Amino acid sequence: MIRRIGAILNNVDLEELRNLLAARGEPGFRAGQVWEWIARGASSYEEMTNLPEELRVALGADLPFSTLAFEHDSLASDGTEKALFMTHDGRPLESVLMRYRDGRRSLCLSSQSGCPLTCKFCATGQMKFGRNLTESEILDQALHFRRREDVNHAVFMGMGEPLLNLDNVLAACERLPDMGISHRHTAISTVGWIPGIERLTVEGPPVALALSLHAADDALRSEIMPVNERYPLQDVLQACVAWHEARNRPVFVEYLMLGGVNDRYEQAVALAAALHPWQAFKVNLIPYNPTDAPYEGSTREAIAAFKAVLEEHGTRATIRLTRGREIDAACGQLATKI
Ligand code: SF4
Repeated sequence: MIRRIGAILNNVDLEELRNLLAARGEPGFRAGQVWEWIARGASSYEEMTNLPEELRVALGADLPFSTLAFEHDSLASDGTEKALFMTHDGRPLESVLMRYRDGRRSLCLSSQSGCPLTCKFCATGQMKFGRNLTESEILDQALHFRRREDVNHAVFMGMGEPLLNLDNVLAACERLPDMGISHRHTAISTVGWIPGIERLTVEGPPVALALSLHAADDALRSEIMPVNERYPLQDVLQACVAWHEARNRPVFVEYLMLGGVNDRYEQAVALAAALHPWQAFKVNLIPYNPTDAPYEGSTREAIAAFKAVLEEHGTRATIRLTRGREIDAACGQLATKI
């Protein structure tokens, strides 16, 4: 089922808000008051009844309640919902809300419009790269869904490589708890951008780290993920182990199951051999979702066999439930097709 809704506007640019309040000589706590309303799901200045009437009117006149224009959304039969937005300068981006039976409401947020890293299996990587998203543009994605219902988990696994935009991603992470998403329920996913992993090791909130690995040997990894030429596998794993030792949490390894490419017995053995000695990783096997890329997903049997080999070799693994496939909202499918 596809549902389309006309363009409406979302949230305030927080930087502009601070500047505007300072220019009006408002007390320092005003920005916090406005943010509290927004984080709780307000959709207009009029609702902010602890602000003076005159200020509400002035904000309404001078500061659009928006950094993103919402274009349309799509709803899958499993409850997964994908929203398409435009930035004010015409950059498209998508975000996804996954609804689970146990009450989890998990957001998949984008950090960039498009992505410069061109992984071969990824629909976003085949799009033209736009730019990094601002802190407010990242938060606006979450707030879009927060206005309709409570949300409690977030993953930076949408469009873009979050560690290429780490300042804005971390700034957004600091504000997610205000809308009900704790740091423990937030994860940042990377393809192995080592300077960013090193930074997360020593600073930033206690969020989880996920590594998109997808191949356990450098030749194949470089073929499907060009970033591996710059940051080879062993160096990336070392950086992740350092993060694990500093943060005392496992690193989640995402492994996309590509039929006939990375799903053979010896590749499972190689993956276990690469990860097992560290005891720092938990593997998530991800059924591949079809895109325009020339890959097919592994069969269900092949994925189960791969998991069994990993576990025989001492590496914990789970198989991820696929969500939102029919609306191109699953992993690697975000490509702002309108
Ligand atoms: S998988 Fe991630 S890093 Fe690679 S192209 Fe897609 S969005 Fe970019």
